[in-house]
Amino acid sequence: MSDNCIFCKIANGEIPTDFVYETQNVVVFKDINPQAPIHLLVVPKKHIETLNDLNDEKLSAELINAIQQAAKKLDIKEYRTVINTGKSAGQEVFHLHIHIMAGRSFTWPAG
Ligand code: AMP
Ligand code: ZN
Repeated sequence: MSDNCIFCKIANGEIPTDFVYETQNVVVFKDINPQAPIHLLVVPKKHIETLNDLNDEKLSAELINAIQQAAKKLDIKEYRTVINTGKSAGQEVFHLHIHIMAGRSFTWPAG
């Protein structure tokens, strides 16, 4: 738990949030400012600032599994996943998270 980290507060229940999916170490919830009809965030409960700070293979696998499980639960088979790492890449919340977006078409490369 890191003080004043919004995703720590969500993950530990300090801010009541509906979880689409939850395990002992990971939560999945809706993005507050959705960029697609479906926009979820997959978040480790432990405070890890960026992808560069993730060095736990079991947790890495659990995060990938959570993507699959959340997609299954929402019955989406096509979706975009994004991890922004660092300010210039667009990271605003410095608690690791994976975006899952679906329900519209995306182009590549993104702007
Ligand atoms: P990023 O720019 O990759 O760090 O993404 C941060 C994401 O967190 C943005 O899409 C925000 O809309 C989302 N976000 C920020 N605060 C909250 C919150 N309280 N609940 C849900 N999503 C949030
Ligand atoms: Zn945090």
